[in-house]
Amino acid sequence: MVMSVASPRKFIFAGIGGKRRCLLDEGGGTVELVQLGAEKTKNVLILMSDTGGGHRASAEAIRDAFRLEYGDEYRIFVKDVWKEYTGWPLNDMESQYKFMVKHVQLWKVAFHSTSPRWIHCAYLAALAAFYAKELEAGLMEYKPDIIISVHPLMQHIPLWVLKWQGLQKKPVFVTVITDLNTCHRTWFNTGVTRCYCPSEEVAKRALLDGLESSQIRVFGLPIRPSFCCAIISKDQLRDELEMDPKLPAVLLMGGGEGMGPVKKTAKALGDALFDESMGRSIGQVVVICGRNKSLSSTLQSIQWKVPVKIRGFELQMEKWMGACDCIITKAGPGTIAEALIRGLPIILNDFIPGQEVGNVPYVVDNGAGVFSQSPKTTAGLVAEWFSTKTEELKKMSENALKLAQPEAVFDIVKDIHDLASQRGPLSNIPYWITSSFSYPTESK
Ligand code: UDP
Repeated sequence: MVMSVASPRKFIFAGIGGKRRCLLDEGGGTVELVQLGAEKTKNVLILMSDTGGGHRASAEAIRDAFRLEYGDEYRIFVKDVWKEYTGWPLNDMESQYKFMVKHVQLWKVAFHSTSPRWIHCAYLAALAAFYAKELEAGLMEYKPDIIISVHPLMQHIPLWVLKWQGLQKKPVFVTVITDLNTCHRTWFNTGVTRCYCPSEEVAKRALLDGLESSQIRVFGLPIRPSFCCAIISKDQLRDELEMDPKLPAVLLMGGGEGMGPVKKTAKALGDALFDESMGRSIGQVVVICGRNKSLSSTLQSIQWKVPVKIRGFELQMEKWMGACDCIITKAGPGTIAEALIRGLPIILNDFIPGQEVGNVPYVVDNGAGVFSQSPKTTAGLVAEWFSTKTEELKKMSENALKLAQPEAVFDIVKDIHDLASQRGPLSNIPYWITSSFSYPTESK
């Protein structure tokens, strides 16, 4: 049985003769949006870190949207400048984050104890002062006209370094927040030109932390444009991904690191989706383990009674989501926003304390999913959705689509483009005149 869930809106992108076209298909009528290239290439430096998978995904979303909208007008660099240019602890954020979120109580303490502004400002100012030269060199290597931070630890430090060098008015500096609700306060710095908040709740927090309403825009979380392209049908996707063409499918994952009760839930699904009385499967499972290699190899060694696909870090998440009928995931904002765009009902089975707590009511209160930490209950629910409660699944799918914001990333890049276009003559002064460093002439 192929499930019938609500269809996402369709965007089709096509590059023709140097012009980029975005065809928005609203069920029959097609509206054509054409963007011509412009003369001067501007450099955009997107600051991110692979702490989880969400920051990179947002950075890539912004990069792709810039390319689609403005083509060669912008040269985009997605970089972890801290990792490339500085020393401990800034160059090691990925493994520190992995360790902390594995020991959630430790993460919880770290998250809340660094919340007061004087604490995180003192800590980040000390790091900025210690690595000032390296950071300046790292930032300026890309001669950025625009700096976009998609990471909570990447506003204070670069803004201080730019200020100390007298460069704070040169690049447009914006923050794109990638947490949907209970975000950390280090996201907020009053020195930014814009702070893009994914929700009204985050915007309220920004105002409370001293940002002016003129600095804040609420467009939604930036999601890779490939998620909006529903040009391939579910049948075709299943064929391409070598999935069963008929059985309803559940996608199980745990963010970029494959976190949460993925193993136990996979096993429970293996049992619940096999109908013992009829001796056949009522569903199939796709498990995406992300960068968690040991999870992937453990699951590979299990004998499954139902069709199960076990995958590592996938680069085309939109295809796997498009081929499935519902998703089980920790409350990661990126995965949630992507699932909403694909109209997937969501079972949240875990959350990282602090920044992900607020994502649970966001999904549940809007009728787009449920919260269940018990693998057995979760698996039982999926079995019901695939057999007796198909209407409930359909309703949740419709609610998910109502919450989806596929255009957010385009609204963000258009606003940044407008900001960059408004910059005065100062932005045209070469960096070598204003900076204490000399830079290589070739950009990476
Ligand atoms: N992701 C991916 N490939 C994978 C696993 C995850 O591209 O194999 C992406 C996923 O689509 C989402 C991001 O990683 O965009 C995970 O972000 P989220 O905010 O959900 O959780 P995080 O990993 O940041 O904790």
